[in-house]
Parts: sequence; structure tokens; C-alpha cells
Amino acid sequence: MSSFFVLSEEQQAILETVRRFSDEVVAPVAADLDRQVNPEDCFSWEIVEKADEAGIRTMTLSEENGGIGADSLTSAMVIEELAKTDMGTSVVMAQTLKLAQILQSALNDEQKSRYIPKFRDNPRSVLAIGITEPETASNYFLPYNDAKAPFRTQAEKVDGGWKINGMKHFISNGNRANIYLLFVQTEKGKGLADGATCFLVDRDTPGFTIGRVHDKMGERTANNAELIFTDCFLPDENVVGEVGKGFQVLVDFFPQSNAYAGATILGVAVAAYERAVEWAKIRVQGGKPLIEHDGVRADLAEMRMLLDVTRTYIYRACWAADHKDQDWDKTMGAYPKVMASQAAWKIVTGCSEIHGGSGFMKDVGFEKLIRDAAAFLHSDGVNRTLLLKAANYIF
Ligand SMILES: Cc1cc2nc3c(=O)[nH]c(=O)nc-3n(C[C@H](O)[C@H](O)[C@H](O)COP(=O)(O)OP(=O)(O)OC[C@H]3O[C@@H](n4cnc5c(N)ncnc54)[C@H](O)[C@@H]3O)c2cc1C
Repeated sequence: MSSFFVLSEEQQAILETVRRFSDEVVAPVAADLDRQVNPEDCFSWEIVEKADEAGIRTMTLSEENGGIGADSLTSAMVIEELAKTDMGTSVVMAQTLKLAQILQSALNDEQKSRYIPKFRDNPRSVLAIGITEPETASNYFLPYNDAKAPFRTQAEKVDGGWKINGMKHFISNGNRANIYLLFVQTEKGKGLADGATCFLVDRDTPGFTIGRVHDKMGERTANNAELIFTDCFLPDENVVGEVGKGFQVLVDFFPQSNAYAGATILGVAVAAYERAVEWAKIRVQGGKPLIEHDGVRADLAEMRMLLDVTRTYIYRACWAADHKDQDWDKTMGAYPKVMASQAAWKIVTGCSEIHGGSGFMKDVGFEKLIRDAAAFLHSDGVNRTLLLKAANYIF
């Protein structure tokens, strides 16, 4: 049994591989990619292909399916490690690692035989999940099961399958993925929890097109896009789980998702903290390095505490997600990202202040961390929404 207090030799070796990949492949290009004006130019296929060569892209696949069977705890470590160098790269991979786990757990054998090779054998295969719509967002996180607030993306039953019309937005890897999980309203007159169905969608399905690629303030090396469906036929064989029970797929197979989001934002906070410590050692004011001033020392010590506590919580949630019968508590599907994004925002803005005016200057490179850190106050559920979700479980 793996432990979240001591890294195994295998985990250490995996993290060493990820560090090398980050240093050699991502670090030299991340700042330049982030600066591109067109959001599509911020994304790099070379990074994805190199992540494939390093075994990162497919690491959550079981050995039988061609991966190394990384568990959720190990995956969270990898996601944090990637985000220390570049948050966007971490998001591209976190979505893919998470959804590859779901391909293995939620699909039936026939679906696995079609989709796992499509993912495994294509070094550019990244994965996406389309749930959010312009008018249905926090609603599905809670979720409200109100018949007046269904998904606007609807499916009509036709011979042998479903005809889909509608659109999703903000979808991570939306314009890059080759396989999608898509949430669609299949039963009119019902709410989300009773009337939505999860489908597998191939990128080249007729009637499915990509709309806008969103121009984001941070996390720019990952792309987010609109998915547009116009009389798009999906066969019955592409329904994941049961018709009308799409949300059960989320409940049963996504327990680690929130903790992975937390691990991403934690990596950004670690990067900011490490930079601030180095800065405080060399920047002299008041006749001595900043690190010798009590106020700065105490601030950095508090940040270190927040990092440790957040990481421990993420690890616990990941371990529990993989041992649901032993330690799982539904709040762990909502809290870790809230904790991590609040801590990260405090740490990153605090570390920027320790950099003084330099923290605001683009050439020092700190401002990217602030823009990146903001992403997860909004993404994977707004924090207030997740607190409401936790409240619903508790009370
Ligand atoms: C970078 C990024 C990546 C994303 N990736 C994906 C993805 O891959 N797939 C996907 O499906 N979606 C994705 N999303 C969508 C994301 O999950 C949603 O943006 C998020 O859930 C919030 O939805 P919204 O923006 O419409 O805000 P809204 O739902 O409109 O919320 C606005 C505000 O109202 C508050 N609020 C809402 N309901 C209540 C209530 N009942 N009581 C009190 N306050 C309330 C919220 O907390 C929030 O502060 C992504 C978003 C971002 C920014």
C-alpha cells in the first residue's frame, strides 16, 4: 500500500523524470509561449509529444493498457511538479491523466477497445471534458436538479443513436483533444442530475466543430475553447454509463478531479515561494538581506506552512479517492481546490510583494505566476460554489 507521508522509490524516479522534462523541454519555451498574442500560438504540440516520449502523457494507464498504472497520489505529485515550471502544461496533462483514468474505469469493454488505443497510440492525443455552458455552470457543480435549468446542449433520440445540438464553452484542451466526454440533456422536462447523459465524442465527428479559442489572462499555454454541435449524430454505443445518469459518471469516477486542480495551483505557489526565498536572500535593504528582517521571515514561514498543509490535504484526498471504501468523505471532492487556490493566491501575491517593484516588472517574470494563480479561483468550480457543494454534503 502506498503512503502519502513517504515517497516510494518509484515515485521518486517518476518525479525525477518529470523534473528533467520540465527543465529541458518546458522551461526554455514557457515564457515565450505565454507572451504570444493569439491564444492558439501559446500551445505547443512539441511539449505534448515530448511528454509522450517521457511516458508522462499515458502514465495513468494500467501496465496492461500500455502505461505505468500511476495512482491518483502519484499523479497529483506529477501535476504539482509540472506546474512549478508552467501551469498551462500542467493543466494540459492533468486533464489528460484524469480522463485517461476515467476511460479505464467508466467505459464498457467494447468502448475501451475502441478508445484506449486511440488515446495510447497517438502521441498527440490529449483529452477534454465538456460540461460548462454559458447558462449552465455553477448549477451543474452543485448540482441543481431543477427541470427549469437543464443543459441547453440537447440530444434528440434517432434511429441507432442521438442527434446533438448546442454548445459548450471554456473547455480545457477543447480545440486540441481527439477524444471528449460530453454532457448533454437527453431527457426534456428533467433536471441535470436526472436528465443528462455522458457521451464519448471523437474530434472528427461530423457536426462537431470548434468555436472560439478563449483569450485568457493566465494559464495561457493550455488552450480553452467552445465546442459546437449542429445535428451531430452520436451512436448509442457512445453513451457512457446509463442514459439520463451522466452525473453518476462524475460521482463514481471523478473523485480525484478536485485534488488534481489543487495540485496544479499548488505547483504555482511553490514556484513563487522558492523564488521569493532566493530573492529575500540576495536583496539587501535596511543594511541586511530581506530574509534577516523578522517581518519577511515570518511571512515566508507562514507560506511554507500553508504549502505543507495544502499538499498534505491534496495527498490525503487522492489517497482516499483511490481507497474510497476506507477513507472517502464527499467534501474531499470539493475542498482541496478551494484550500489550494486560496493559499496559492495569498502566497503568490505575498511573494510578489517581497519582490517589491521588481515583482511588477515583466522582465523579472513574476507576473506570469500571478496571472496563472488567478486561474483556479475561477476554474473547476468557483470557490464559493464548491463551499456550497461541501455545505450540502455536511448539512
Ligand atoms: C481556466 C478555466 C478552465 C476551465 N475548464 C473547463 C473544462 O475543461 N470543462 C468544463 O466543463 N468547464 C471548464 N471551465 C468552466 C468552469 O468550471 C466554470 O467557469 C465555473 O464552474 C464557473 O462557471 P461560470 O464561469 O459560468 O460562473 P457562474 O456559475 O456564473 O458563477 C458566478 C458567481 O456566482 C456564484 N454563484 C453561482 N451560483 C451560486 C449560488 N447558488 N449561490 C451563491 N453564489 C453562487 C459563483 O460562486 C461565482 O462567484 C473552465 C473555466 C476556466 C476559467
